Amino acid sequence: MNKLYFYNTLTRQKEEFKPIDNNRVGVYTCGPTVYNYAHIGNLRSYVFADLLVKILRYNFGKSNVRWVMNITDVEDKTIRDSKIKYPDLAPMEALKKFTAEFEGIFWLDTAKLNIAKPDFIAHAADAAYVKKMQALIKNIFKAGYAYIKDGSVYFDVVKYSKKYKYGLLVDIDVSKLKSGERVDDDEYEKDNVQDFVLWKGQKAGEPFWDFELDGQKLPGRPGWHIECSAMGEAALGMPFDIHTGGVDLKFPHHENEIHQSVIGYGVKKPVNYWLHNEHLLVDGQRMGKRFNNFYTLKDLEEKNLDPLAYRFLCLQTGYGKVMNFTWQALESAAEGLRHLQNQVRGLNSSSKLGFFARIFGKSQVNSKFKNPFLEAINDDLNMPRALAAAQELLKSDLADEEKLATIIDFDKVLGLGLKNLGKIEKTIIPDEIEKLAKARLEARQNKNWQEADRLRLEIEKFGYLAEDTKNGQRISKK
Ligand SMILES: [Zn+2]
Repeated sequence: MNKLYFYNTLTRQKEEFKPIDNNRVGVYTCGPTVYNYAHIGNLRSYVFADLLVKILRYNFGKSNVRWVMNITDVEDKTIRDSKIKYPDLAPMEALKKFTAEFEGIFWLDTAKLNIAKPDFIAHAADAAYVKKMQALIKNIFKAGYAYIKDGSVYFDVVKYSKKYKYGLLVDIDVSKLKSGERVDDDEYEKDNVQDFVLWKGQKAGEPFWDFELDGQKLPGRPGWHIECSAMGEAALGMPFDIHTGGVDLKFPHHENEIHQSVIGYGVKKPVNYWLHNEHLLVDGQRMGKRFNNFYTLKDLEEKNLDPLAYRFLCLQTGYGKVMNFTWQALESAAEGLRHLQNQVRGLNSSSKLGFFARIFGKSQVNSKFKNPFLEAINDDLNMPRALAAAQELLKSDLADEEKLATIIDFDKVLGLGLKNLGKIEKTIIPDEIEKLAKARLEARQNKNWQEADRLRLEIEKFGYLAEDTKNGQRISKK
C-alpha cells in the first residue's frame, strides 16, 4: 500500500492519510447552491473533489470509497430567486421547481468535465433530512448551547467558546465576542463572529416546515450550516474521513459545521481531514457579476472550447494555489489537451495489443512509469507533477501497447476521456482520408517522396495528420 498525503486545514500541515476504517473511505463535499449556473470558480471545486475521489479509488478500489454530496436547495438565495421566477406558485412548490432546474444544469456541466456522479446525493429541502436537522438542533438545545429568540434558534458561540476552541479552520479572536449578538445571514464575514442561526423562523411568503422545540411552535426552515452537519452524519456516520470545499467555505460554514456536530453528536472531532481548494481569479481579479467576468461552461462552449480543456487547465495548477484564469491560458490548455489526445490516438492506431488490452482490460501497466505518477498524485494531489510523469511515459521508448495501457490507467485519475479515443478515431476517419493515406503509403513504398509529401499536405487540408512511425503510417485528427 502506498502512502497518501493531504494538506489538512485543521492541522495546517501535510499529513499521512489514514482512514478510520482500514480499507474504506468516506468523503463529503459541499455541493452547489442551486440558484444559478455554476461559474468556473465553483466548478474548480468539483473538479478538485472529483480528482480527490478518483485518487482515493485508484488507491483503495472503486467500491471502497463513498462520495457524498449535498445540494443546497433551501437558503436565502434559492428562496429569494424562486419567488421571483414563480410568483404564482406556492412557496415550497416554487422552491422545488426552481432548484430542480438548476440542479439539472449542474449535473450536465459536471458530466462535461468528466466529474463522476457522487454515490450519494442529499437534498437539504428533503423532508427526511429536515427531520434530521431538527433532531440535531434539539440535541444542541438540550445540551444548553442553543437558545430561542423571536421564533428562530441560535447557536450560543459565546458559551461554547468558554469550553471549546472556536476558530479551528481559521484564526478567530473570541475576546471580542459579545453575548446575545446574533447573525441571521447564512453567509457572513470572518470579523463578524456572533451567535449564528440554526433554525430560521418563518417569514411571510417563505417555504417552511413545522418544528416544535421546548414546547414552542417554531415554523421555519433550517440554517445553511446545520444542513451539512445533519446530512454528513446521515450519509457517513460520525466521525468520518474527509470533508472538502472551496476556501470560502472555511468560515463560517465549515467552522460552524464542526461545532454543531461536536455538541449535537457528541464527537470530539467530527471530520479528520478538511481539504480546501483555493480561489479562482479571472485576469487577476475576483470573479463577480459586477466585474463582467462571471464565466460558465456555456461561455467556453460558445468559443468552441472543449470543457475538458478547462479540466486540463485545473490539473495544471495545484488545488491549493490561487488559479488565474485567462482565455489565453485556456486556449493553451486546449492545445495541450489536443496534443495529448493525438498522442494517445496514435498509440491506439498503431497498437493491436493495446487495442485488445483496452477492450478486455488486460493490464500491461508499466510499473517503472506508474510509480512516479502514483507518488505525485498521492503527494497532496500534485497534478502538475503527475502530468509531467505522463509526458515522460509518452516520450519514452516503451512499446506502444504498454504505453497505451499505462496512460489509460493514469486516465482513471486524470479523467481526460483518453480511454475512448481509439474508438472515436476509427469511426471518424472518413473514407476519403483512408484513400489518401493508402495512396501515400504506396507512394512511400515506391520511394516517390514528392507525391507522398503532396498527399500528406492534402490529408492535412482535411484536418488530419499523417505521421510516419516505427510501426508504420499513423493517421490522426489534427
Ligand atoms: Zn456544506
